[in-house]
Amino acid sequence: MNLPWFLRATRAYYFPARSVPVLLGTAPAAGIPGHPHRFDSITFLLALAAVPLPLRAYNRDQCALACAGAPDLWIAVCPVVYSARTRVGYNHSADANPPRPCPREEENPPMRFARSRRFLIPAVVLLCFALTVSGCHVFHPAAKVAAAPKPLPPAKPLPLDLAKVQPNEAGVVPILEYHDLVKGTKVTGYQYPAEAFRKDITWLYAHNYRPVSLSDYVNAKIDCPPGTSPVILTFDDALRGQFSYGPDGKVDPDCAIGILEAFHAQHADWPLRGTFFVLTDGDPKLPPAFYQKASSQAKMEALVRDGFEIGNHTIHHRLGIRHWPDSQVQAEFAGAVANIHKLLPSYHVQTLALPFGVYPSNRKLVVSGQSGSQAYHNICALLAGAGPAPSPMATEFKPYRLPRIIPGNEKFALRYWMDYLQANKEEKYVSDGDPNTFTVSLAEKGSLNAARLHNAHLFLRTYSGTQIVSDGTAPPPASVSAAKK
Ligand SMILES: [Zn+2]
Repeated sequence: MNLPWFLRATRAYYFPARSVPVLLGTAPAAGIPGHPHRFDSITFLLALAAVPLPLRAYNRDQCALACAGAPDLWIAVCPVVYSARTRVGYNHSADANPPRPCPREEENPPMRFARSRRFLIPAVVLLCFALTVSGCHVFHPAAKVAAAPKPLPPAKPLPLDLAKVQPNEAGVVPILEYHDLVKGTKVTGYQYPAEAFRKDITWLYAHNYRPVSLSDYVNAKIDCPPGTSPVILTFDDALRGQFSYGPDGKVDPDCAIGILEAFHAQHADWPLRGTFFVLTDGDPKLPPAFYQKASSQAKMEALVRDGFEIGNHTIHHRLGIRHWPDSQVQAEFAGAVANIHKLLPSYHVQTLALPFGVYPSNRKLVVSGQSGSQAYHNICALLAGAGPAPSPMATEFKPYRLPRIIPGNEKFALRYWMDYLQANKEEKYVSDGDPNTFTVSLAEKGSLNAARLHNAHLFLRTYSGTQIVSDGTAPPPASVSAAKK
């Protein structure tokens, strides 16, 4: 966009002043990379309060200095003010020379300056107001550059025939919540037949689902083949039926890991992915992770080596967390990380499943906190049960309130939701095969969070019927209306 001459001429000159408002806490106005840049009413008031600063400066250097303490707007407005002042009788040569004694007193009769100020203040106020109403993106070329996406390889051509498969990366993703796997056929409480689990993944595979990791889903880096749908497997409580060694030292073929490894051996395009929300023996009343203390560490190491993730499930697995003080909540979350580190010293724990789906009263503690020297930060928090989770780019995606689906045949359990998504295929997430590009039908475009797509440096490809509308060669504009992150 062509800027007015005075902005072009002074943009570079005033740029260093940009760092100061950051320090002063006016970051939103200063064009922080990735921040949804917007000229809001608070900035307007701050700018208004700073009106006298450049008016009192004696030359351009001092004008810039005065502006440095003001909101970023002044980086644009200051030259206008200064320029106007020079026209009403200021010292034109002051910029080229060392600072002189006050030129206002030296060269400008007091009456003349007073007249100019009477003219300038309403003019600047009007300008501030106009910028507030219109937004100030035109005055932030540097901010735009800073927020621009990193260079990515151009989006690949869509590897799908739209006449046969229509990708929908705005669709829902099932996150399955398993507990113990047992012999027999009866589903009781948290126990689920191993054979039923085997049937579940066989059915999922046959219906084009492929497992992805929870962190890849949350980070919107879903990488599954074109035309397939992601599914996320989670296992809570580190129970015996999830990972068990037999007397011969081999993995029990009827535990979850035994079943998944055997399935992967037969179907290479079913990768080993899943998250184990473990309970370690941090609570002496609870059994060790996976119930075989001698092999707890070897199992944790094997899980990570194979491509699974380990998540936080607290130390004590108690219901009363909602009534606990902040310090106790943080000790619970941080302590669970510390206990995982006893078995996996360098592992980065970044996912949390809340026991029973119960939050502490201070919900911010779910995101991050610290207890003693142990800090924690979670990229997501999972609930217990409910239904499929939104696309990570959907406007309704809430990473700290992710619903899961329990296995079984009852209402709102796995069978119910799988049947539902088969009958309502347009609601299901269907991958385009390219983790850097989000492909949706034109009708679904509005359901995506454009600002999040932009900030994640993802491309957006749209189609209508069998025709590509936008080929995804450019990232989507960060829509102001979609600036909710
Ligand atoms: Zn649990």
